[in-house]
Amino acid sequence: MSSSARNFIRRLPKAELHVHLEGSVTPELLLELGRKYSSEYAQLSLQEIRTRLFQYENFSAFLNTYRVVCEHLREPADYLMVLEHLLHGFQEQNIRYAEVIYTPSIAWKMGRDGKAILMQLLDRCTRFHPTSAISIHWILDCVRQWGREAADKTAHLAEEFRGRGVKAIGLGGDENSLPLEGYRETFAWARAHGLFCHVHAGETGGPEQVWGAIHVLGANRIGHGFQAARDAGLMEYLREHALGLDICLTSNIKTRAWGLLSSHPFQLLYRRGVPVTLNTDDPGLFETSLPQEYEKAAQLGLQRSDLARIALQSVQSAFLAHPEKTALMQQFQDEIYQLGKEDAETLG
Ligand SMILES: [Zn+2]
Repeated sequence: MSSSARNFIRRLPKAELHVHLEGSVTPELLLELGRKYSSEYAQLSLQEIRTRLFQYENFSAFLNTYRVVCEHLREPADYLMVLEHLLHGFQEQNIRYAEVIYTPSIAWKMGRDGKAILMQLLDRCTRFHPTSAISIHWILDCVRQWGREAADKTAHLAEEFRGRGVKAIGLGGDENSLPLEGYRETFAWARAHGLFCHVHAGETGGPEQVWGAIHVLGANRIGHGFQAARDAGLMEYLREHALGLDICLTSNIKTRAWGLLSSHPFQLLYRRGVPVTLNTDDPGLFETSLPQEYEKAAQLGLQRSDLARIALQSVQSAFLAHPEKTALMQQFQDEIYQLGKEDAETLG
């Protein structure tokens, strides 16, 4: 890739709609936490941590690393350290808006105070926002294999902090575990209380999982969903109803949810008019960044105008109220217009 293309991507205003806080732990951060808690990883070198934990033979190896990382997040200060790293990355990557996913039930399962952690995260973002041009919102995720009770508790926590930075309830975890039907009432309750609904589906499961996310849970946006490319009717439905898919290219390759980048269905979905966006998913665990995701899309044949369109789509797909969305869209459009003009002057 040319340095001018890389520069264009870096300067493009971007929004990140799918990034897990827990998945933002890098090998460096894990080593730091390992030393803090004298865990078995404290004695390893960074390279050993990378080789043993941050390369995945299959999806369950990835889930295992996720568990190891979460075991090291023991108090609010640990979560804040990860958030700090994430916020710094947003500034470096020219990310103007982000929806960060936090999973309180992981904290609860490990005997930690999931609500106290959330309160500190929200407080940090409130202090961050006035001093930067970046706005952060939160999605509180339920874990599909952990059942209804934890999901209800998550929904109530999301509702308590709605309007204070929390925008949505989500469903993540293993989509081949419990049926979606068991979460119907939880999500209906959340929708009735003004929360958006975000559902991981069509990553390791088939198109029927995406249909279920829409019809059973009333999803407003789908995490991954690339398996929709196997169902022409579903692609048409997503396009017609402006239902966005958060595409995470590096994630899909590294977890082996998809084989080769060159044959990833992203291109097909984009060409069919499905509202797709580019995201990192777990930037620490996959050692990626949002500009790197845009570079991968460029490798798949997308031109600068396509990448700009995807940046705008990420504003369109955001869980924002109409006036906020319009203002952010205007800002993105102005900057992209300026970027295009400078590009034309350089080339011409
Ligand atoms: Zn995810």
